[in-house]
Amino acid sequence: LVPKISVNADGSLGAPNGVTVGSIEHKMGLKASATCVMNYDNAKGFLVGEPDRGLVCMFTMMNYERLAIGLQGLGNAQAAYQMASDYAKERLQGVAAEGSPTGAVSDPIIVHGDVRRMLLTIRAMTEAGRALSVFTGKQLDLAKYASDEVKAKAARYVGLLTPVSKAFLTDRGLDATIMGQQVFGGHGYIRETGIEQFVRDTRIAQIYEGTNGIQAIDFLGRKITHDNVATLTEFVAEVNASLAELSQVNPAHKATVGQVFAELLVTANYINDNKKTQPALVNACAVDFLDAFGYALYGYFWLLMADKASNHEDKTFAAQKQYLADFYMDKLLSKSQYHLSQVNQGDKSIMAMPAEMF
Ligand SMILES: Cc1cc2nc3c(=O)[nH]c(=O)nc-3n(C[C@H](O)[C@H](O)[C@H](O)COP(=O)(O)OP(=O)(O)OC[C@H]3O[C@@H](n4cnc5c(N)ncnc54)[C@H](O)[C@@H]3O)c2cc1C
Repeated sequence: LVPKISVNADGSLGAPNGVTVGSIEHKMGLKASATCVMNYDNAKGFLVGEPDRGLVCMFTMMNYERLAIGLQGLGNAQAAYQMASDYAKERLQGVAAEGSPTGAVSDPIIVHGDVRRMLLTIRAMTEAGRALSVFTGKQLDLAKYASDEVKAKAARYVGLLTPVSKAFLTDRGLDATIMGQQVFGGHGYIRETGIEQFVRDTRIAQIYEGTNGIQAIDFLGRKITHDNVATLTEFVAEVNASLAELSQVNPAHKATVGQVFAELLVTANYINDNKKTQPALVNACAVDFLDAFGYALYGYFWLLMADKASNHEDKTFAAQKQYLADFYMDKLLSKSQYHLSQVNQGDKSIMAMPAEMF
């Protein structure tokens, strides 16, 4: 605690402490949040609480903040989708490849394959992101209110999923806002449309509350390898048991998701076995490993959602989920295998070039 004015032994006010506000920070986004530069010049501060317990205290806040920041990325992605899909249904440009469905000289851009690709990607990632958030929220509830055995397991899952929620939701959140901006074409770069604000405001979410690189190192270096892959193995076993119960989804899709998780486990064990002899392995491969896990997890969530939605009384809702699940399986799940292939390439080419050559 750093007081603005020092307090004398008798309780009266003394000299000003060496702490001043330098200026408002001139940030890329989040302009309505007036954060400021603080200058400390020989300022006197007072320890609150026990010595050496500060980081532990901070993590009480930080773990919830990490989940909340993940939701910031997810919320911005959803807003970008809503704006972009509205725009794509209004903006007339070009004619559909197979001929205008209405015989018009120009069609709304929603008819174009590339625009549909962008919108489907944002939506498939955003809806799976919501599933991740609800799943993690459920584990938080279980970790607090369930029986002791369930509580302990849920706490392990919260630990495992917290860095993933923070990093994957915000990295993909920025991807989504940029894709949403792209749907607007040149208008997306113009302030009046409003979409560029989502790009600026989402960027910080990858940085604060621990950069996403640090989240990934926490995920691979602590949550996965500190217990010799035990929690991840337990989690994947549950995913497999849950997949086996799904009756309304394509069996080939179930097999593919199961295979991706099996490959993830092989790689996690490889890293665990080699982390001592190759000390840079975790740090250099963590982001790719987290992304591989995130895309695999979303594959699982899409099958869960498609299965549950298949008998939904709202047929449009059921059909939307099926279209999106099929799109995810066809076009996005393979990103998991791509990122895993990057991890499997190891750290050699990353660590080889001497620092002075950068
Ligand atoms: C708008 C804004 C608001 C903020 N609000 C708060 C706040 O309210 N309270 C607060 O305490 N903080 C706040 N922060 C600080 C924020 O949490 C940090 O900026 C953030 O955690 C990154 O730390 P750093 O800036 O020191 O980056 P650095 O640690 O210098 O990182 C620089 C780069 O190096 C990488 N890196 C660093 N160490 C390693 C490593 N060991 N292995 C691999 N890569 C590494 C990072 O991932 C990053 O890419 C705020 C920051 C901003 C911009």
